[in-house]
Amino acid sequence: MIVGVLALQGGVEEHLAALEALGATTRKVRVPKDLDGLEGIVIPGGESTVLDKLARAFDVAEPLATLISNGLPVFATCAGLIYLAKHLDNPARGQQTLAVVDVVVRRNAFGAQRESFDTTVDVSFDGVTFPGVQASFIRAPIVTELGCTTEAIAVLNSGEVVGVRQGNIIVLSFHPEETGDYRIHQAWLDLVRKRIELAI
Ligand code: GLN
Repeated sequence: MIVGVLALQGGVEEHLAALEALGATTRKVRVPKDLDGLEGIVIPGGESTVLDKLARAFDVAEPLATLISNGLPVFATCAGLIYLAKHLDNPARGQQTLAVVDVVVRRNAFGAQRESFDTTVDVSFDGVTFPGVQASFIRAPIVTELGCTTEAIAVLNSGEVVGVRQGNIIVLSFHPEETGDYRIHQAWLDLVRKRIELAI
């Protein structure tokens, strides 16, 4: 089983380190042929407007959106969440997304870089709770509306939705890959494995 990490910009190495620490075989994805045979893909944080521009320039945006719509499992953090959202409250001029997760997202919802913070947040799905996940919020987005196929899996004490699941897609506003707390990477890899087993 090979899982990809979209390697155009942002926290690519941190996600590769997390996945490899958990025993996964990984591949950097930059161009359409890198998508061949992947069982799942991670979309890292960084800057969603840059991710968008580079993915279009490398012609990887369209095939990636198609694969995800057809069920390819995804784990995305921060800018990755923004890049997957169907709607943005405050897109930059000309900003496009892959529009595959049925949520509305507000970019930079906690303010500028200096308002970045670390905290712990409980993440729950499939009847399992991961208590106190170590989370870095860096110019983080929030989810302001959920669609009917999406569920909130992480909510801050102040009420903001910062994690969502839609089928095999897990998206987080924050960066567990920055903190060394890899429990959600592990849970997502388990989802990927379960999907392969069901298909056999
Ligand atoms: N604010 C950034 C954006 O709009 C996301 C920041 C991050 O990924 N840490 O893409």
